Amino acid sequence: MPVNTVQDLFVEELRDIYHAEKQLLKALPRMSKAAANGELKQAIDSHLEETRGQVERLEQVFEMLDLGKRSKRCEAMEGLIEEARSMMEEVKAPEVLDVGLIVGGQKIEHYEIAGYGSLVALANQLGHAEVAGLLQETLEEEKAADQKLNDIALSAVNPQAGSGAEMDEEMEEGDEEAGASKSKSSRSSGSRRSKAA
Ligand code: FE
Ligand code: ZN
Ligand code: FE
Ligand code: FE
Repeated sequence: MPVNTVQDLFVEELRDIYHAEKQLLKALPRMSKAAANGELKQAIDSHLEETRGQVERLEQVFEMLDLGKRSKRCEAMEGLIEEARSMMEEVKAPEVLDVGLIVGGQKIEHYEIAGYGSLVALANQLGHAEVAGLLQETLEEEKAADQKLNDIALSAVNPQAGSGAEMDEEMEEGDEEAGASKSKSSRSSGSRRSKAA
């Protein structure tokens, strides 16, 4: 479809993220299955449930705008999922695999946060206030999912995993530093919840 107006662009972006969410319905169960940490597995499973609701919300948006629920291939999400898939093949140690799943999961959530952030702004500018409200709900869920992964990374992940190293005092200090910089980098990623926490 030719894209001439901002409204056209908005619709194309809705179709893109609709395709991205539908890909995640297939990818998240594989990521959950690969997770060893119970909290991580549960976080992925509960975000899968949320993702089903996000797909429905987008279908509701298409209806409100009198559009068919057609999707547009999202190559970015295909790429993020493909990277996660090849990581899952390469990494053998379960604790290291969990770290890889958190990294891959956060890349996915950040892509969605960028997408929904733009969609909310465009919906408001185009005068679709009710649609903006629905998209905002999804945006909040994506931010919370990102924050949850971050919390798990800080609480449950052992940075020495897979290295076979004994912990001594020096290494413990190193852990704290790694944890602090991880938490700082996520706070700068734009999650309001992380600032409130
Ligand atoms: Fe989503
Ligand atoms: Zn996309
Ligand atoms: Fe895309
Ligand atoms: Fe998500």
